[in-house]
Amino acid sequence: MKIVSACLFGVKCRYDQKHNRIESIQQLVGEGKAVPVCPEQMGGLSTPRNPAEIVGGDGDDVLDGKAKVIDHQGNDVTEQFLKGAYETLEMARKVGAKEAILKERSPSCGSCLIYDGTFSRSKKSGHGVTTALLRRHGIRVVSEEKEKKQEESDSR
Ligand code: SF4
Repeated sequence: MKIVSACLFGVKCRYDQKHNRIESIQQLVGEGKAVPVCPEQMGGLSTPRNPAEIVGGDGDDVLDGKAKVIDHQGNDVTEQFLKGAYETLEMARKVGAKEAILKERSPSCGSCLIYDGTFSRSKKSGHGVTTALLRRHGIRVVSEEKEKKQEESDSR
């Protein structure tokens, strides 16, 4: 069993109330092989919501209390992001997930890249808060982009 970002399944749970649906992810969920989760909604944030970025580090630093998650109006939403990460970990444990496919560049779900905290669309290496927590608990996290590349090379 896997967990997947709900926006990749087609749920309009992004900050701007859009989704990032990918057919193969929909298929996984449809076949009962994956469960969709949205850490930011599970942390109590509404949809739509203000876009947020990690300021001062990445998801690991947030878990260690060395960085914060701030929305573009300057509100501190660190607590909600942490709550969402722990709720997602709980869900992963309940369904026995050992792997997660999560949305790249999200401050929750990013697994290689995140926005750099300047709200200028610039990116940096690092992972989101949920990804950091899942990895600390032995759950493998890959991005949907890696998944897509793998599918493309498999079909060649
Ligand atoms: Fe998608 Fe994750 Fe953002 Fe929710 S928190 S909208 S699942 S990227």
